[in-house]
Amino acid sequence: MSDVLVLNRSFFAVQIISWRRALSLLYLDHARVVDEEYRTYTFDDWREFSSIIAREPSGYIRTPTFKIAIPDVITLRYFDGLPRAEVKFTRRNIYEHYSYRCGYCGKNFSTSELNLEHVIPRSRGGKTDWTNVVTTCIPCNLRKGNRLPYEAGMELLVKPSKPRWTGTAAICYRPGFKIKASWQRFIDNVYWNSELDSH
Ligand SMILES: [Zn+2]
Repeated sequence: MSDVLVLNRSFFAVQIISWRRALSLLYLDHARVVDEEYRTYTFDDWREFSSIIAREPSGYIRTPTFKIAIPDVITLRYFDGLPRAEVKFTRRNIYEHYSYRCGYCGKNFSTSELNLEHVIPRSRGGKTDWTNVVTTCIPCNLRKGNRLPYEAGMELLVKPSKPRWTGTAAICYRPGFKIKASWQRFIDNVYWNSELDSH
């Protein structure tokens, strides 16, 4: 069935929920529908509007007394926070986090010229996580080898750290998820940041 994009009070995309939950929130007046022109509707307004919608909606819910269109987008009336999802430890996210720069020479590289580098080598107990992995160019990576930076006479220019991204970047998608055209204006950067299927 149809999913609904949820925006916070400031129109930042925060979640995707089922149409059932969306209509409940609307009915309880915790949320308002947002249309293509960024107009908002209460439950009653939307019910009325549903009968004159020109476009093809995502479907209608019919009761004995009225029908109401399933909205594509709703905005929460009270919630102004942002999703606090973890930033996944993926190659793409690591490259992004370090701006496609080598952690030792500081130069910019294309993805094919970058490696993931364990600051403390794995052979010496270094972890594979945000606290110990940075991006390096291949020459720096080879030069450092299985040593600690100071042993190789190299200086790490960045502090290995976990990125903190907020906003639409953090929306979690299920595999096989379809982004509706009507959501696009609210979630333009989602394609880059949605978690990749590892299979
Ligand atoms: Zn380098």
